[in-house]
Parts: sequence; C-alpha cells; structure tokens
Amino acid sequence: MKLRIHAFDLPLRHVFTISRESISVQPTVIVELEQDGVRGYGEATTNSYYNATREAMTAALERLRPELETLTCDDPAALWERFAGVLRDQPFAQCALDQAAYDLWGKLRGAPVHKLWGLETDHLPLTNYTIGIDTIEVMVAKMNEFPGWPVYKIKLGTARDLEIVRELRRHTSAVFRVDANCGWTADQTIANSRVLSELNVEFIEQPLPADQWEAMKRVRAESALPVIADESCVVEADVARCAGFFHGVNIKLVKCGGLTPARRMIAAARRFDMRVMVGCMTESTVGISAIAQLLPLLDYVDMDGALLLARDIATGVRIEQGRCVYPATPGNGVSLVES
Ligand code: MG
Repeated sequence: MKLRIHAFDLPLRHVFTISRESISVQPTVIVELEQDGVRGYGEATTNSYYNATREAMTAALERLRPELETLTCDDPAALWERFAGVLRDQPFAQCALDQAAYDLWGKLRGAPVHKLWGLETDHLPLTNYTIGIDTIEVMVAKMNEFPGWPVYKIKLGTARDLEIVRELRRHTSAVFRVDANCGWTADQTIANSRVLSELNVEFIEQPLPADQWEAMKRVRAESALPVIADESCVVEADVARCAGFFHGVNIKLVKCGGLTPARRMIAAARRFDMRVMVGCMTESTVGISAIAQLLPLLDYVDMDGALLLARDIATGVRIEQGRCVYPATPGNGVSLVES
C-alpha cells in the first residue's frame, strides 16, 4: 500500500459553539491508502480537548510508513493490531488509518464494508442534526435551516438551558436529545432531567465532567432520562467503567482509534446491557461514511458532521432528513473531490 497524508481546513456553515469552545474552521487529516490503483480514505479531525494535532498525527503516521508500504490490504483488523503499539498514544491517527484500510479493503472486494461484515440495513437509526450553542433566536434559525428532521441534538451548558429547549420545542415536534458537554452538576442534571423529559427529550449526553464518577452514579439513579457517556467513554476499557454509571455510551471513532476497536466496544456495551450510540466530530463525508458502516449495530447515531460544513471535500454516504443513503461505490464509499 502507498500512504498519502492530506491536510484540509473545513469551513463551517456557522460558528459552532459547545460548552467549552467555539470554532469556525475545522482542521482535518485525510489518510489515503492506495493499492493496485484503488484508493481508500480515512479521516481524523484535530481536537484541542483530546490534544490531537495535525503535526502529531502526521508524525505518528510517518513513523509507520516504511513498514506499512511493504504490506497489502488483506485484513484491516490485523493491520490495526500490527500498529496498535506504535499508535497507542495517537488514536486519532490510528482512526484515520483504520478507516482508510476498511475503505480500501471493501473497494478491492467490490462490496460495502457493512455487507462484508454481514450486516443488514433494513432498520437503521436516524441521525440527529446538531444545534450548537448561540442566542435562542439563532438556534431557532439554525434548526429551521434543516426543517423536518426527525431528531435534533441541542448543545447545552449555558445559564439558560431549559429556556433554550422550551423555545426550540415551540417550533417542532421532532425528538430532541441534549448534550451538556460536561457543563452541569449532578443536582442540575437531576432537576433538568425532570423538565426535559416533559419536553420530549430522549436522553442527556455527558452532563458531568468526565472524572465525576460518584456524582454520576447518583445521576444515573435519579435522572428522569437516560444518560449517555461521551467524554467519559474514550477508549475500549472505558465501556466497562461506564457500566453502572451511564445507561449508554457514545463511541467516537477518533477517540477510540477507528472502526476496529469501535466494533469491539459495541459488543462490550451490549454485554453490559448498555445502549450504543456512535457520534462524530465535525468530520467531512470521509469520516461520516466510515461511521455509516456501523449503523445497523446502533441504537442512536450522530453523524451530521458533514452537514455542518460550508464545503465538503468528498462524496460518499449522504444524509437525507436524518436517513443514511449509502452510495453505489464499495468500501466506505468515499471519493475525494478536493486534493
Ligand atoms: Mg458529546
């Protein structure tokens, strides 16, 4: 396989604000693997919370280039294992490489990755569209830019969280889910859950800071809504840690190191009888198309990253009113339109 590393700055449609930061451009790294003239693509966005920089990802991939380029793409999971040691501290780079390996693997075999895994696509969860924090007027306007969606995810962690949800509720009967990104206390979460459950909110994502396990145990016992771990569930071992503290986990491919560990995490979460969500960062269609391969295994999905962009860099899986539309292209179905 030949390795190429591309860097893009993805411009966002709107400044995107969550409880701890705002961004208007999302830097991203695209890994390309080529074999026999066929190209597979994977992605990892940069992320300050997880300390993932373009420089560190590129350096990590350059370290394995000599060995990687002697190999053929026969088994992406085995490839992941082979470089697990070298990439132990670089899950974002590991994710981009793993996605690219699966995309290439499927393309070389002429079938979508989910089909090669034996998954059926008859019953797929619908993805939410995410509304970042802003003034209430702008949040309503953002929602109205994507009217008729079945599910919206509302970012919270402000001084007026319930007011935001009440106001958005006046404009739609869609399902809401909320994500406080570590911005609440246990008491706030329990109190908010009672109000939010009356407003057709289906769950609360990561209400407390990631290290507040004892407080989280009380929240899980007293919350009127299910609570889903995001910042508390990063790598494989965290799934077991979250059992008894959360009702479910939000797995993100960049956090855990790609599709290979994500599949194991989904299986582990099921063993603990937890609900499973896969979420995205603000990836382009490259990363979103990889997430889509896992859809048949999930209860919930947040794969709207590419919809938040002013300009995408790839074609592949599309989202129509929350529904995933798989392309005719095999693998993850990705083609790069900008290079
Ligand atoms: Mg989240």
